[in-house]
Amino acid sequence: MAAKQILSIPGPDGSGVEVPYFEFGTSNSGPHLTVFAGIHGAEYSSIAAAKQFVSELKDDEVVGRLTVVPIVNVLSFWARTAFVVPVDNQNLNRAFPGNPQGSFTDIYAFQIFEKFIRNTDYLLDMHAGDIPESLEPFTIFEESSVEAKSLAMAKSYGIKHIVRQRQAGLVVAGSTSATAAAIGIPAIIAESGENGILDPVAVERHLRGLRNLARTLGVLNGEPFAGSPNILYDGWNWLRAESAGWWQPAHKTGTDVKAGDLLGTLGDVWGDSQTEIRAPQDGTVLFQTSSPAVSENGILVGLALR
Ligand SMILES: [Zn+2]
Repeated sequence: MAAKQILSIPGPDGSGVEVPYFEFGTSNSGPHLTVFAGIHGAEYSSIAAAKQFVSELKDDEVVGRLTVVPIVNVLSFWARTAFVVPVDNQNLNRAFPGNPQGSFTDIYAFQIFEKFIRNTDYLLDMHAGDIPESLEPFTIFEESSVEAKSLAMAKSYGIKHIVRQRQAGLVVAGSTSATAAAIGIPAIIAESGENGILDPVAVERHLRGLRNLARTLGVLNGEPFAGSPNILYDGWNWLRAESAGWWQPAHKTGTDVKAGDLLGTLGDVWGDSQTEIRAPQDGTVLFQTSSPAVSENGILVGLALR
């Protein structure tokens, strides 16, 4: 049986923030997989998949050890904030491994890292496109000493697009997968769903991947399915806005572009001026901001590189 547990993190006003999670198996069980969802509290397809996974698990199915945290960022979930923790507006997935003397998000990241990441054998962190973000499903792993194992995890998740995040030209620091890999724990981030929509197809894609990953790692019994064909990308180019403006992307996510192709236009709200944003190199649009409202230095397009 799953044991329902609570991690209590000191809150900004002195009260505790309660993070519910589930434990299956014991420290004597087989390999330990830790599953996160809701690091970003409005990425509902990932949260729904974690909830459904737990509710459908049968007692005799778990042969290893499983920890599932369906809503890591509970304050963001209740406040419906995209990307950030509402207390200090910091992105939790840029704050790991955290800092007990830092801002609220730094302290929160520290508690989550020490409790859940430091002592697991494998980490899966499920995400989706947030409220203003459209997204083609993909998985991410890091260039690291454990990258062969992380890549095998990504392949077993069964999503076509797999991005290796290079250390050189790293687009973001402080993510779950990067900080786990840095201490030798194989980890992936899996993205399915977009625009903060609770989409059953996106939920099912996460569920199928999660179950297959857990079987492949020997955490759940049952035969895993063989990996499907995939495309491996070597890093990213995240294009950002030089100034705030009205953004209109030119393509659907999943589109392959060549260097020089139009990616979208960024104009002022009067419609007086318009800047064409073009691809600096060949790649595939795996996510992009779908909201027209983009602030200075805001992300426009995530271009995965071949
Ligand atoms: Zn996310």
